[in-house]
Parts: sequence; structure tokens; C-alpha cells
Amino acid sequence: MIEFQKIDKEYHVGDQIVKALHKVNFKIEQGKLTIILGPSGSGKSTLLNILGGMDRPTRGEVRFNNEIVSNFNDHELTDYRRRVIGFVFQFYNLIPSLTALENIAIAAQLNGNDHQAEDYLHQVGLSQRLNNFPNQMSGGEMQRVSIARALSKKPKLLLCDEPTGALDSKTSLKIMKILQDISKTTDTAVVMVTHNPKFEQYADHVIRLKDGQIEKTYDNKNPKFVEKV
Ligand code: ADP
Ligand code: MG
Repeated sequence: MIEFQKIDKEYHVGDQIVKALHKVNFKIEQGKLTIILGPSGSGKSTLLNILGGMDRPTRGEVRFNNEIVSNFNDHELTDYRRRVIGFVFQFYNLIPSLTALENIAIAAQLNGNDHQAEDYLHQVGLSQRLNNFPNQMSGGEMQRVSIARALSKKPKLLLCDEPTGALDSKTSLKIMKILQDISKTTDTAVVMVTHNPKFEQYADHVIRLKDGQIEKTYDNKNPKFVEKV
């Protein structure tokens, strides 16, 4: 569904060049859960931002089905983000003055799909929290709202950058279960960045990054199922 071919990404900082990604190749298939692992600074967020059309590679080709995303102009990239991408961030990025339901409704409206905010909150187990504001929720609940918001776009690709980075281990596993369930029950491809190697066993596909390069990549034939927490 989506493919990176020889992707390089360089940042210019003063007169220095930082090589964030170097000759990165991989494929992601629909309905699969991919986990990207690597230490801080290894290029995980850079890779996710290029997948999500929020940044462009310096060299190489990004393909989404028959489209060459790396050739898109700004307008085409905006359209690609709307059509294809859902994003989940480490610190949720919810609007504090809106309830859970309103946070999703406003995102859905931007995408011309203003029903079903409740259904998406139900899907992440938050039917009881529709009218709560972010500061009335725990970290895990806020992350579930943010996942529901991303799902309301019906994304082909759900990109999650350290979604459990600020959560305790039990809550992290709940989030992991929701993400695994999405990949198993829908066509959405889920890509999750983490530095927690415990999550590797749950993924269909694992990409390990080191210093901007792929150190190792492999498929799990029988990924472990996340039990209900
Ligand atoms: P990770 O998410 O694995 O921690 P990043 O993708 O954020 O890694 O960063 C990879 C490398 O690129 C790091 O050396 C980082 O400092 C550098 N980098 C990332 N974003 C920028 C930027 N906007 N400008 C300059 N350097 C950057
Ligand atoms: Mg990062």
C-alpha cells in the first residue's frame, strides 16, 4: 500500500547537515500493524512525518498505491493528509475547552463527516466520557479520545508517534490493544513508533532504526494477541 524507496532526509542547521534518514526502504500493507523501534534521535519521528505527508524527503520516492507522494505539491500533500492519514501524538493534542465529543466532532467536520463522533468514542471504550473535558480525564482516556478523533477520518494509514510514551505500563497495554484491534478489524494500516521493545511481539511487521538507517526489519508470522487488560 505504501512504500519508501531509498529515502534520505537531511536537515540543514546553520552550516551543518544532519542526516536524519539514510537509504531507508520498506513497505507497509493495509490492515497490518507495523512497529517502528529505535533509540531517541534514530529518525523515527522523521520517518513518520514523511509517511504522513507532513514533511518531504530530501531524496528517494514515497509511493501510496499508484501515487508518488514525494512528487506532490503543497496542495496535493494537504489533500493526501486529509484523505489518507490519521495521526496520534504522544501528548494527545486535544483542545482543552472542548469535550471529548466536541473534540471529535470538530475534526470530523473538517473532513466533511460530522456524524458518528459517539460511535468512535464507543469503539475506544469511552461511552461514559462523552461530555468530559480533557482535564477531567486520565492520560489513557485522553489518548483514547485522540485515537477516536483520528479514526473519525477513516484513515487508510493511522500513524502513532510514541502514543504510550507518557502512560504507565497497564494503560499502555490498553492503548496497544486498541491499536492492534483496529489493524485486525479494519483495512487501516497502523504504524506505531515506540521505544518499548515489549511491544514488538504484537506487531505483524517490525522496523528497527539506528542512526537513521534500518538496522533490522522482519515479519512476525504469528504476532501475539494483546489480551484484554
Ligand atoms: P526520533 O523520533 O527517533 O527521536 P527524530 O526523527 O526526531 O528522531 O530525529 C532524527 C535526527 O534528526 C536527530 O538527530 C534530530 O536532532 C534531527 N532532527 C529532527 N528534526 C529536525 C529538524 N526539524 N531540524 C534539524 N534537525 C532535526
Ligand atoms: Mg521522535
